[in-house]
Amino acid sequence: MESTDKIINLLEKEYKIDKPFLNFKTDFQLLIAVILSAQCTDARVNLVTKELFKKVKHPKDIINLSQKQLEKYIYSTGFYKNKAKNIKTTAEILKTNFKGKIPSKMEELLTLRGVSRKTANVVLGYLFNKEDSLPVDTHVIRLSNRLNLTESKNPVIIERDLIKITPKDKRFNFSTLLIMHGRKICTARKPNCKNCMLNKLCPSAFSFEKSL
Ligand code: SF4
Repeated sequence: MESTDKIINLLEKEYKIDKPFLNFKTDFQLLIAVILSAQCTDARVNLVTKELFKKVKHPKDIINLSQKQLEKYIYSTGFYKNKAKNIKTTAEILKTNFKGKIPSKMEELLTLRGVSRKTANVVLGYLFNKEDSLPVDTHVIRLSNRLNLTESKNPVIIERDLIKITPKDKRFNFSTLLIMHGRKICTARKPNCKNCMLNKLCPSAFSFEKSL
């Protein structure tokens, strides 16, 4: 779609995608970091995993930690009891069903606990270089609506809508670029339309000023 190409080009000129938002060294660490990032900032997750990942590199390391020990590490990410339970169950499932490895298919990833389509798409993009995976987080939901690329607030429908209009090899990067733009310019509370390179293409440009 022509306008999506233009949006991607303009975003690519502005932002350099150099490294993932979340820090990790092993595949399993990435999975944990993405599970922890639900309802939490990446900065907070990176702070927490700095300590946790000294001890945890593979599923067996989580299996060896008690639920309480894990909860202590991840307490500040919020919903820590649920997250700890999900991470422990996921480590067991990986050990039993996937020989301790992270699976490379969406359907398989969705059998793990605490793994949404967004989490699975992040894992597929980073670990398996699947450029056609398109993670939909809160920034992608907001920006794709403001840019009129979808009429839905439902992440599954948005993913479907964006996939239709985004070249296959650009999907993962498009999601990353929207997240970067959402953090810097098109924020939830105060979109900075004046300094936005998309303002000539965006149907919502300057429409927030009166209501803010
Ligand atoms: S013009 Fe405004 S609403 Fe549109 S993408 Fe830019 S900052 Fe967001």
